[in-house]
Amino acid sequence: AESRSNRAAVQATNDDASASKLSCVKKGYMKDDYVHLFVKRPLRRSPIINRGYFSRWAAFRKLLAQFLESGISSNETAQPKKQILSLGAGFDTTYFQLLDEGKAPFLYVELDFKEVTSKKAAVIENSSQLRDKILGANSSISVEEGQVLSDHYKLLPVDLRDIPKLRDVVSFAGMDLSLPTFIIAECVLIYLDPDSSRAIVNWASKTFSTAVFFLYEQIHPDDAFGHQMIINLESRGCALLSIDASPTLLAKERLFLENGWQRAVAWDMLKVYGSFVDTQEKRRVAHDAGKSIIIHLINLVFHPFYVMGKEHYCVTYAVNDA
Ligand code: SAM
Repeated sequence: AESRSNRAAVQATNDDASASKLSCVKKGYMKDDYVHLFVKRPLRRSPIINRGYFSRWAAFRKLLAQFLESGISSNETAQPKKQILSLGAGFDTTYFQLLDEGKAPFLYVELDFKEVTSKKAAVIENSSQLRDKILGANSSISVEEGQVLSDHYKLLPVDLRDIPKLRDVVSFAGMDLSLPTFIIAECVLIYLDPDSSRAIVNWASKTFSTAVFFLYEQIHPDDAFGHQMIINLESRGCALLSIDASPTLLAKERLFLENGWQRAVAWDMLKVYGSFVDTQEKRRVAHDAGKSIIIHLINLVFHPFYVMGKEHYCVTYAVNDA
């Protein structure tokens, strides 16, 4: 059985994520008109954190765009039906951004612990900016149930470790298992025990006939920085449980290849920054990033939590096609 405090600490990592995204948005790295609605206490992050978030966002949006644009022929205007499933979505606002960009898929489903979905439902309910986007004849918001239901967007509570419940919730959300599906897990599976992480990856490969899995999470606990990252999370009552089983890029790829996925490739964030972020974009962020090395060193001495370098995170992209 898990302790209450670990569960609360894992949920609190979501507040960190939103605060870091907002810091990045305020610096002009990326656009997100909604994240500020979810942050009570804005923080300014160091350039290295901002750049790490930016690289992750750039890789995510590029791969997502590739998925959303695939199968659209030039003489066709209608988008083929597609769906997105976000595991441990936290306060992520991608759905609302895609709506603004006219790129939202047929169905977007977000799952998290009830404590988190309930808070998210409350923010959606209390902000006309968000509420107006999902309100329609068939929509409802329940803070108590931690649920938002609408034609094209569903927010639902579930403990991802409970596979039978996960199956039920995906069916309740009306996901069509034969539609192309983009599955997102950003900094989520790493907080689960390795068996649960494997079970989820396995379930996903068996459940959706054509799917892409975008995984973003920590790697390399074995050097000084990685070790510090773990100590800092632990000091806040929160453990990276799956990291012992997956310390390397190869292990991340194996997580997918050994659990039913046809292809999988993992890049650390240094490589992502090198190959996903355009030269022009790099120039744009270089000003802030130039200060990075010094701040990195200062943080190392004064504020060890912020030393996590890009080499301690990776993107793994797995594909299955019918
Ligand atoms: N994916 C979001 C992002 O990148 O901004 C949130 C990441 S946050 C670091 C981790 C999220 O995973 C939290 O919202 C937490 O509640 C959720 N989570 C962790 N374990 C979970 C579980 N067993 N079931 C459901 N959600 C879980």
